[in-house]
Amino acid sequence: MAPERATASCFCGAVKLEFPVEGVDLVDTFICNCTDCRTITASMFASNFIIKNSSLKHLSGEDKLTKFAQSQTIATGSTMENSFCSVCGTLMYRRSSGFPTNSVLRIGTVDDFNLHDTKLKPRIEQFTKDRVGWFHGGEGVKQVEGNYYTGGKEWKDTGKHKM
Ligand SMILES: [Zn+2]
Ligand SMILES: [Zn+2]
Repeated sequence: MAPERATASCFCGAVKLEFPVEGVDLVDTFICNCTDCRTITASMFASNFIIKNSSLKHLSGEDKLTKFAQSQTIATGSTMENSFCSVCGTLMYRRSSGFPTNSVLRIGTVDDFNLHDTKLKPRIEQFTKDRVGWFHGGEGVKQVEGNYYTGGKEWKDTGKHKM
């Protein structure tokens, strides 16, 4: 049986993505409190999920995406490329030069809000050292002080995606 898929949309609806919400191509789900995520979301943390590029489809608006990339503030020295809707400004996904086959999408853009609470619920919360004092983290989410994904840690699915 093919893995269940879902869609994500930007705020204005110009950009629409499609991706699996189960199986090995859903690499992981996580919250990030790092200082970049604060600024880039204009909020206090980002809630993300990682999809293999090979199973990420652009249903519409790929030509509407505008990209911004930099490496100065990335702890690993990788370049992070961010793809925004050029009409409404929604950040749709990020790609790191360190993991060029993955895209980091945003849980909040997923059209089926039920998935935010179920299949896409964050598994990991990273950079808790940078978390604001009034937020105590995701309930039932594994907490990590720094960068979870560069510590040789295992991804979901018993380490199949170990880096
Ligand atoms: Zn838009
Ligand atoms: Zn972050």
